[in-house]
Amino acid sequence: MSDVCIFCKIVAREIPAEIVFEDELTIGFLDIGPLFPGHVLLAPKQHCQTLTELPVDLVGPLFLNVQKLTRAVEKAMEAEGSFIAINNRISQSVPHLHVHVVPRKRKDGLRGFFWPRKSYSSPELVKETGEKIRAAL
Ligand code: 5GP
Ligand code: ZN
Repeated sequence: MSDVCIFCKIVAREIPAEIVFEDELTIGFLDIGPLFPGHVLLAPKQHCQTLTELPVDLVGPLFLNVQKLTRAVEKAMEAEGSFIAINNRISQSVPHLHVHVVPRKRKDGLRGFFWPRKSYSSPELVKETGEKIRAAL
């Protein structure tokens, strides 16, 4: 646990949160500034900042609970779908790993996640990029 981390403080019940799910390893609570009502954050109770720092034995339990919460949020909010996201360092405002589970409806007006798509400039660059990632695995 980090003494200065707000999500560690939520785990320790030192600051209030609307907790919707908890098990031995993870905690899910309403985001205080939701994109839409029902926007939930699911975090491992153990402090780490990013997905790559998450101990491997917590990956399975965390993502099983992401699936469970996604199902519950979609049902409870009568959503047509959902957006599941993790900010790793860039755009991450709370440095304790958390998965956003956001209920979505068609034409819900969410524009913050509009990413302009680009093409690779050549087939060689596609191959080269693939090689780099395969080599890093
Ligand atoms: P990030 O920008 O790190 O991906 O997301 C952090 C999220 O945490 C934001 O959506 C923000 O609204 C939420 N948040 C920040 N502080 C608190 C808090 O004290 N309580 C709760 N429930 N959510 C918080
Ligand atoms: Zn923490």
